[in-house]
Amino acid sequence: MKNSLLRLFVLSFLCLSAISTQAAEGQTGWKAGFSRIVITPEKPIWMSGYGGRTHAAEGKIHDLFARATALQDASGHRVVMVALDLVGVPKGMVDRVSTAAKAKHKLERADLMFCCSHTHCGPALDQSLTHMLDMKEEDWKQVIEYQKWLDARVTDAINAAVADLQPARIATSIGKCGFASNRRPPIGTGPIDHEVPVLRVLSEDGSKLRGLVFGYACHNTVLGFYQWCGDYAGFAQLYLEERHPGTTALFFSGCGADQNPLPRRKVELAEQYGRMLALSVDEVIASEMSPVSGAVQSRFREIDLEFSSIPSREELVQTAKSSDRFQRTRAQLFLKDVEAGKPLSPTYAYPIQVWKLGTGGVTWVTLGGEVVVDYSLRLKKELGAGKTWVTGYANDVMAYIPSERVLTEGGYEGDSSMIVYMQPSKWKAGLEDRIIQTVHELAK
Ligand SMILES: [Zn+2]
Repeated sequence: MKNSLLRLFVLSFLCLSAISTQAAEGQTGWKAGFSRIVITPEKPIWMSGYGGRTHAAEGKIHDLFARATALQDASGHRVVMVALDLVGVPKGMVDRVSTAAKAKHKLERADLMFCCSHTHCGPALDQSLTHMLDMKEEDWKQVIEYQKWLDARVTDAINAAVADLQPARIATSIGKCGFASNRRPPIGTGPIDHEVPVLRVLSEDGSKLRGLVFGYACHNTVLGFYQWCGDYAGFAQLYLEERHPGTTALFFSGCGADQNPLPRRKVELAEQYGRMLALSVDEVIASEMSPVSGAVQSRFREIDLEFSSIPSREELVQTAKSSDRFQRTRAQLFLKDVEAGKPLSPTYAYPIQVWKLGTGGVTWVTLGGEVVVDYSLRLKKELGAGKTWVTGYANDVMAYIPSERVLTEGGYEGDSSMIVYMQPSKWKAGLEDRIIQTVHELAK
């Protein structure tokens, strides 16, 4: 413990000297703005992430936040990234908030990136893992009420980040952090991605650290109890903000769908992993980083990902009597649609986004859903190691997104998780190549 405190102390000096060195660099024409708004439910509503919970939250370890950063290049092109201490990003919320952001700030869909930490100690949401929980009607009403309040808070976060735009210096680099393990059996033997991509924003004269964006590919599942908490990512953001007063630190999940923080289930472990990750970020910003110069480009596309099969009405009638709560709920929901004359869709509109930061800079790929690590490893290889970032859990979290390997192997990430996500079946083979191909097209 003492050693890590000493390390933090030394690092803070290194940070300051690196920052003042970079103050000598020329103007870039960039502007940046930040905001941070509390989104902790004000009432004790249910929590999301684990289907076995039986009642609402009982308190908090720390607050949950919606953080946003607006980045604007010299030509005036503006993009906004939102980082949420939530289990998922409901599509309905993204649509509503995007509409408001377009009306107020002329932000196109491609200019908005909605990320979440996938904390399993955040609130239940409307339209994201909605039916995983065994809630009564009264509990539902509270969740829907919270969702409305949350929509407004996320919109406020975007507005505040745009209002905060001021000249800035932006730089990127990548660090490492080692606590994520591949959780698919045999545990600890599968592929991992320990990179920590970091974007650093300094004041125009380079003297002040204003903001940090950083990512890591690992589930935020150290904790699974009844207290609001951002898990390791929540701690990491708060450590960075405490250590650098006036700075906003935004976390995004990488392709960590098959990665767990191990060991886990103790608050001290979540704190420890958060501190490790914050230290990795501090090491990056204390070393030489690549200044972002040139413009930001943004692209967004939805592709229709196919399911492998759609259940017949007869099959749904049978499964609606199942003793398995998840199977039964899914079949009942689908039956309701089918009987209302709405056939089940054989596809899902899957969001893919690419931002290019500056000339020859970072290609930032953003994928929806719980994406397994194979995607980030492949994309880094194909688009360039050291300058490719891959964010998962963004813009819509509708299901797990297995690679072809994981889909073939099956198991939770490849198959059975589709039940808790209330999707009709596993994905049809071929999804990995379709997603990667689209990323290449958008990154061109
Ligand atoms: Zn998950």
